[in-house]
Amino acid sequence: MNIHEYQAKELLAKYGAPIAAGHAAFTVEEAVAAAGKLPGPLYVVKAQIHAGGRGKGKFKELGPDAKGGVRLAKTLDEVKAAATDMLGNTLVTIQTGPAGKQVNRLYVTDGADIAKEFYLALLVDRATGRIAMVASTEGGMDIEEVAHSTPEKIHTIAIDPATGFMPHHGRRIAAALSLTGDLAKQAAKVASSLYAAFLGTDASQIEINPLAVTEQGNLLVLDAKVGFDGNALFRHPDLMELRDETEEDPAELEASKYDLAYIKLDGDIGCMVNGAGLAMATMDIIKLNGMFPANFLDVGGGASKEKVTAAFKIILADPAVKGILVNIFGGIMKCDIIAEGIVAAAKEVNLSVPLVVRLEGTNVHMGKDILASSGLPIVSADDLGDAAKKIVAQVKAVS
Ligand code: GDP
Ligand code: MG
Repeated sequence: MNIHEYQAKELLAKYGAPIAAGHAAFTVEEAVAAAGKLPGPLYVVKAQIHAGGRGKGKFKELGPDAKGGVRLAKTLDEVKAAATDMLGNTLVTIQTGPAGKQVNRLYVTDGADIAKEFYLALLVDRATGRIAMVASTEGGMDIEEVAHSTPEKIHTIAIDPATGFMPHHGRRIAAALSLTGDLAKQAAKVASSLYAAFLGTDASQIEINPLAVTEQGNLLVLDAKVGFDGNALFRHPDLMELRDETEEDPAELEASKYDLAYIKLDGDIGCMVNGAGLAMATMDIIKLNGMFPANFLDVGGGASKEKVTAAFKIILADPAVKGILVNIFGGIMKCDIIAEGIVAAAKEVNLSVPLVVRLEGTNVHMGKDILASSGLPIVSADDLGDAAKKIVAQVKAVS
């Protein structure tokens, strides 16, 4: 789960990270009032969407010459103009895709005089199984580009969970950023506070880009992108409240309510499978037979009738779906129970596209009998290859 910049900054400030004063705003009036509470004379009005690259982004509704989603303002009137430009309009950045994202919230923050911009991020390094810090002097820009063209400017420091964050880690971060003296001390402190935040919130990533050095010689977290491990969110009810459902794909949001792992893809064949490995194999074999999967969907080990029904509804709500392939291995769950669930769900959602079901495992014969005697046009398949061939043939026959 991701959160907005202003939420991330409020959170990181609690862990001691240096953050400029700022306030969220949902209306133009609130934005002006928020600026009024800041010392000035420089304000920054920032579009709050779950995507980076806002500064260089473009608003669909404004002309190509209009400024992006991060604007400096020197007066309250300029704050008002920036807020009016942004709220309700669609910001397109390199991270939003061409559809862009509607801006419904703003963050009005105290403007800083920037001398230098660094990059500092924390993530889980799967190769070492440790939390790693990534630091670079090349901040404020596209870090993927830096990693690609000048990899020597990216420094990665993995932290042993047995020791946690140690003073030497702080010194290495400062050295990676070529900082000395007081700024080196500040860098070590920032890194330590970010590590504490990462552990304390079960984060999956914290990205500060830029971490700025101000003209006054202070480090400041100017932008913050924070994401949490969804599997640990139950431990953080306070963080769950930060969820902004309008930022999420509606189908994926619906799927998450039923604990279904769903990802929308570009093809024609809806897939309903239990187990991620089987789901991947099912997608592969659809491709092998010349068509493409419309989604990845793992209903999990305990696929109840409710889950199967929800999964059918989500798949069918996608207008691109021309056929459905159900591929379930009855291990923990028995095939007859699954077959009953499929029949009930197919009746409830008024199935309008071909459906091929491949069941295997415990009570498979009972399961197939239930499908055959359901009176529904469900095509049974014997194995993975047979299932893929049948759904592709069915879809081609009707289209
Ligand atoms: P992003 O484009 O979505 O990554 O948004 P950022 O928050 O990183 O802002 C983009 C750029 O705007 C930064 O790299 C800075 O150069 C600039 N910026 C952001 N905040 C301030 C500020 O307080 N003062 C100044 N002068 N520039 C800022
Ligand atoms: Mg940024």
